[in-house]
Amino acid sequence: MIPRILFGEGQFDNLGKFIREIVPRNTYTVFIVDSIHQQTGLLQKIPSVDDDVLIEADVSKHEPKTSDIDSIRDRILQEKKALPDVIVGIGGGSVMDIAKAVSVMLTNAGSAAEYQGWELVKKNAVPKIGVPTLSGTGAEASRTAVLTGPEKKLGINSDQSIFDAVLMDPLLIKTVPKEQEFFTGMDGFIHSVEALNGSAMNALGRPYAEKSKEAFEKFFLKEKDYAAAMVGSFFGGCSIANSSVGICHALSYGISWVLGFRHGVANSIVFNQLEEFYGDDVLKFQKMVKRHNICIPANVTKDVTPEQMAKMIEMTYLLKKDLISALGAGYRDILTPEKIERLYQKM
Ligand code: NAD
Ligand code: ZN
Repeated sequence: MIPRILFGEGQFDNLGKFIREIVPRNTYTVFIVDSIHQQTGLLQKIPSVDDDVLIEADVSKHEPKTSDIDSIRDRILQEKKALPDVIVGIGGGSVMDIAKAVSVMLTNAGSAAEYQGWELVKKNAVPKIGVPTLSGTGAEASRTAVLTGPEKKLGINSDQSIFDAVLMDPLLIKTVPKEQEFFTGMDGFIHSVEALNGSAMNALGRPYAEKSKEAFEKFFLKEKDYAAAMVGSFFGGCSIANSSVGICHALSYGISWVLGFRHGVANSIVFNQLEEFYGDDVLKFQKMVKRHNICIPANVTKDVTPEQMAKMIEMTYLLKKDLISALGAGYRDILTPEKIERLYQKM
């Protein structure tokens, strides 16, 4: 759980003060900011001083790779003799994950690719603060920093990859383009559906998932309450830290890794075909798609080669913990390689 939160419209103006409440100034601060914020005006409002480091991350082309993390880490260590006091990440799920992963990689040797998995981080990370500007992933609250590596898409999952503090200002998410808002929002909705239907869920995670799901349903089926969506995203992350995702995310990682679809889009492509597992919630999803005139990419797997299909099946099984939560220890008997292939062929 995130120990410190600052929430409310306009709180971004208090970021400088908030940072100092979390960590005293000894060396410098690293700000990692989504480069889109050149255009939204947020970049111009970053409270950087003296020799702070400001890194603009362009996440429009692809989601974070382990090589991106390594090069940001190398750049900071080449420029500076000491470690920063704190890393501040400002952006969507991609930048949240970059900030978390860089904080880990500043103190742990090697490549970020070596830490994709569970409990592989050895040394304490640099403190970090998250400032989300896009709601849905819950990356601002979760324990994972999702990265695409040379061999797999998988998060760094560790007590060192969770923010020390989060500043949430609902005004910051109002500039997100509508389609992006939808796909990232669906990621949040799907997290809760999967978490609530999985055996990994516990009594601490359940109320967070219920409230998160309700917030996204209201946002996309009734009225757009930005503050509620921001809280919904955060609660989704709190829930995932105490439960797990499920079949949709397992299949979606294969789609992203092999075909390059962004996470929210990949999840939507997959979830649309999972009525046999998630029933009414898939119908609810389809209602939201219709209401917002969203086009879900179709026939995306039609040109996939047998080698690519084998890789996608392999990627699906990597999310073993999540599949056990969704289907039990005998998940391979239900979700056989043939069944996975049949599902992919429908997408
Ligand atoms: P994103 O961060 O990749 O951003 C998508 C686009 O929205 C980018 O072009 C970005 O520049 C733009 N954007 C962000 N904020 C904006 C704003 N305020 N105004 C205008 N444009 C804005 O999208 P995302 O869906 O939030 O994150 C996806 C990533 O998060 C994936 O890499 C996924 O794997 C990861 N993820 C992580 C977790 C976790 O718990 N760590 C959970 C789910 C997904
Ligand atoms: Zn997700």
